[in-house]
Amino acid sequence: MDNKKALKKQMAQNNLHFNKALGQNFLTDDGILDEIIGAACLDDNTNVLEIGPGAGALTLRLAPRAKKVVAVELDTSLIPMLTESLSAYSNTKIINNDILKVDLKNLIDEEFNGEPVRVVANLPYYITTPIIMKLLEENPGFESIIVMVQKEVADRLAAIPGGKNCGAITYSVNYYCEAQKVVDVPPEAFVPAPKVWSSVIKLDLRDNPPVECENVNHLFELIKAAFLMRRKTLLNCISNSNTIKCDKETLKSILSELGISETIRGEALTLTEFAKISNMIIKRQSV
Ligand code: SAM
Repeated sequence: MDNKKALKKQMAQNNLHFNKALGQNFLTDDGILDEIIGAACLDDNTNVLEIGPGAGALTLRLAPRAKKVVAVELDTSLIPMLTESLSAYSNTKIINNDILKVDLKNLIDEEFNGEPVRVVANLPYYITTPIIMKLLEENPGFESIIVMVQKEVADRLAAIPGGKNCGAITYSVNYYCEAQKVVDVPPEAFVPAPKVWSSVIKLDLRDNPPVECENVNHLFELIKAAFLMRRKTLLNCISNSNTIKCDKETLKSILSELGISETIRGEALTLTEFAKISNMIIKRQSV
């Protein structure tokens, strides 16, 4: 029986339905599952955090290859089936919780003794950005994050700051990681098939950020404010911002000192330029 039929049968036998609201598009393509496993570079020493194990297709491939796997699944109705399918693997634990509510530092300390961990997941698309931002901002010792996301999102995550396809999240990803697209995935690789293409992306966490900044929160508030109204110039966005306190004249003089045009839009700035502007705003505020 092919994977799609087997999954549908398994769900029906357990009286389960694919829950659209929870982003339940389960991966059934062996080739793509293997690509994800390949990108995760697992061995006996690798700890894995999986988000949203679903019916367990990825978990069943992670368990025999990793030291320990902890999989966090929100949908309570899937837990008995998952527990049964994974019963042969004593190194695998299913936690029934919302990943956005999990204290990642506690989880890594308790489940992995504070050892390095890789995140491997086919993410629920309705909360991709909050999950990725949580992983990056709370990072309690992740080495890399290998995730399936909507293709459009992957293109944004892996974009070059200041270049095509970039958004505010591009700068956060670039600050914390080196991003690399692994593979594009057609809708037919899932059951049920989503309406969009997907991509697997690998984010390798940097040891040190690529820019020097006085205050990382200020830097990201500045970037967020610059992207709030994409069509407007940086000058207009920042002078209308409630979060960044910098008047038009001060910002004009900062831009001129940095040799940046007054008419520039946020999306054309590099991470280094944003960091310099943020540092100079902070410096002028403290005078
Ligand atoms: N890993 C499976 C696969 O590849 O076939 C399922 C992936 S499916 C795209 C996303 C999974 O995330 C679903 O099982 C869904 O129930 C789960 N999920 C949705 N929201 C979640 C949340 N807030 N925390 C944890 N899991 C969640």
